[in-house]
Amino acid sequence: MQKIKPGNTTITVSRAGFGVLALGQTHKALSNEEGAELLLYGLRRGIEFFDTAQYYEEYPLIRKFLEKAQAERYKREDIVICSKSLASDYEGMMDAVNEALRELELEYIDIFFMHEVRSDQFKERIGAWKALKEAKASGKVRAIGLSTHHSDVAMEAASIEDLDFIFALLNIEGLGIRTGEDGGPGEKLPGYRISDRAGTREEMEAALKACRDAGKGVLTMKALGGGNLAASYREALDYAFSRPFVDSVMLGMSSETEIDQLIDYLEGRLPSDFSPDISDKKLKVNQEDCVGCGECMKACASGAIYYGSYGLAEIDLNKCIDCGYCAYACPTRAIIRV
Ligand code: SF4
Ligand code: SF4
Repeated sequence: MQKIKPGNTTITVSRAGFGVLALGQTHKALSNEEGAELLLYGLRRGIEFFDTAQYYEEYPLIRKFLEKAQAERYKREDIVICSKSLASDYEGMMDAVNEALRELELEYIDIFFMHEVRSDQFKERIGAWKALKEAKASGKVRAIGLSTHHSDVAMEAASIEDLDFIFALLNIEGLGIRTGEDGGPGEKLPGYRISDRAGTREEMEAALKACRDAGKGVLTMKALGGGNLAASYREALDYAFSRPFVDSVMLGMSSETEIDQLIDYLEGRLPSDFSPDISDKKLKVNQEDCVGCGECMKACASGAIYYGSYGLAEIDLNKCIDCGYCAYACPTRAIIRV
């Protein structure tokens, strides 16, 4: 596995990272033991970069993985852990960093992100950013950054002096990229401000190039569009891994087969006509990300989506024809394939 030292940072990451969200309770729901074994399998195959978040609630699974890795004589510096928090103020972010250190039983987190920054939010969350800068200065984290689906936020990140990494959504179809805060359907819901303007792949590319030119490390997520591009696996990965301004691509994987496919792809052994078996993958509404805006229902001509408990969307798989239109329409990328 190729390794890279992104931008002006001091951290070395593997070219592909492991998105641990795919293993957690909202997705594959593996036990801590099963999940830890799968991460260990990824590590043995050369994936040394692991991404989680405070709200994924996966720290016990990752702690178990780290114990297993240590037992196999991997050193702490062989593994790069990044986490992130939705905290919007100083106390919340400092608590989030301390929680990660405590729960993971680590002396430092490699990269800590302000999670899911939307347009114009950076200034509002400046207290949280101050906490991240202090955490870095005190050695609790080695590098700090923003994670975002918004191209305008990624562009803003290029000029944030203390920012080491941008972690942004990018895929060949531009699925899920947003820009601006135009007042979308989610805006009327307390606590949410979802843009109703879809951003483009080109806008995100321009922003990430600007980050690269400014010496930032550039990480991307959702290369397979939350599973919606899985049928175009090779094409989607060709795009993701050939962007010259991208250092590492984070991919959610939930089986040894998926890890092997990725390694085969990166090592040039994947057959040219390869098509992954996604027959057992079903659409699902990630209840953590759904804001109940109803956009998916408007897009679904089959009437397969309904409001379940707590007013959030759910999919009736008996009516679903798997056209994928709802996933395209969802402003928060809450509709995934697991
Ligand atoms: S995949 Fe198509 S049919 Fe199924 S829930 Fe989404 S929009 Fe409706
Ligand atoms: S799943 Fe449907 S209701 Fe929930 S955020 Fe997405 S589009 Fe809105």
